[in-house]
Amino acid sequence: MFTYSLTPIEQLPSRVDYKEYFTDVIGIVTAISNVITLRARGRQNDSLKRVVTIRSESNASMDVVLWGERASSFPAEQMQKEGEAFPQVIIFVGTIVKKYASSGAVTLADNSPCKWYINPDVPEARALLSSIGNTNQPIRWDQQMTPTKATPAAEHKNVSEIKDLNPFKYKKMDFLVTVTIRKIDSSWWYNSCYKCVKTAKPYGDLYKCTDSECNYIGKPVQRYKLSMIAGDETGDIDFIMFGRWVQRLTKKTADTLIAENPQGFIPNEITRLLEKKFEFNVSFTENTTSSNKVCFQVNAVVGEVNDTNALPPTGSQSSSLLISQSASGAIQRTPQKSAAFTLTSQSSGGQPCFKHHTNKNSYQHQRVTAYSTELWIQ
Ligand SMILES: [Zn+2]
Repeated sequence: MFTYSLTPIEQLPSRVDYKEYFTDVIGIVTAISNVITLRARGRQNDSLKRVVTIRSESNASMDVVLWGERASSFPAEQMQKEGEAFPQVIIFVGTIVKKYASSGAVTLADNSPCKWYINPDVPEARALLSSIGNTNQPIRWDQQMTPTKATPAAEHKNVSEIKDLNPFKYKKMDFLVTVTIRKIDSSWWYNSCYKCVKTAKPYGDLYKCTDSECNYIGKPVQRYKLSMIAGDETGDIDFIMFGRWVQRLTKKTADTLIAENPQGFIPNEITRLLEKKFEFNVSFTENTTSSNKVCFQVNAVVGEVNDTNALPPTGSQSSSLLISQSASGAIQRTPQKSAAFTLTSQSSGGQPCFKHHTNKNSYQHQRVTAYSTELWIQ
């Protein structure tokens, strides 16, 4: 029994950053990498990574990134051996489409509940095989380099410690901060380029990407961009949070919230975040070095911190966007070790493998999902 709904590789770029969709793809395996150990940005621990490259009928190529246990359990050697005689068809089910800022390539990042079918006896696999006729290219073994220098784990800092750092010297560094959100800017989303997620500006009836190397013209994607002020007992600072991290907190897509709320109104799903305390993995924004305005981007929401002695959470949080300093100052700081971390997973129907997210280990599952660093270009 196979359950899947295939998306052609050529259409995958349109699904970048739509984390509510799981994507199923089929392809012929052309390359497999060895397993490498690395630390992705925003993560605290090293993880295992393997890349499987597949191609479509029309020869479009796609990297599927497997993390953690998926990377080590993938039957790479066996597949490569069998690939010498026969093309190896694979269906990956339940992947998320990512865009990696560094390479500009669209890849599929496997999240934990994802699975694969190797050489499944299904019509799509037969069609793919017949399209390549008798030609079989052996699978390439892609020897990936393990980074020689391990990235140091992000250190926990307070706001005053990171605020005055030299952004040129520390621009590549990640820090962990535990901050309370004090203020959220009224502009909470933007029109992003369909291809590269940078800002797109109206261009006739369509939109044009403001990135001079991209210049894509087409329909934009409405994407979260939350500018906010957050801080701890040592001070406040500007933060910016994009896309799926905001979506994970609001549990709704940007499109949905835009559709549900009048123009210029800040949805309750967003104002509800005010006065909540989170642990963020952050780094300087690109803008900090180019504009002198210190701002940190949230690379990852590590968790929400529930202080036992904090004010009880209310469903209908005040919609005021300015919370007085004294109110938050009254909240006592709880020692780190007793703080509880919660990160609720998104809810979504339909996808069979998504159900795993609702179990107790959902936080662990989220952590092994890969993500890219997103840069904000004004
Ligand atoms: Zn673009």
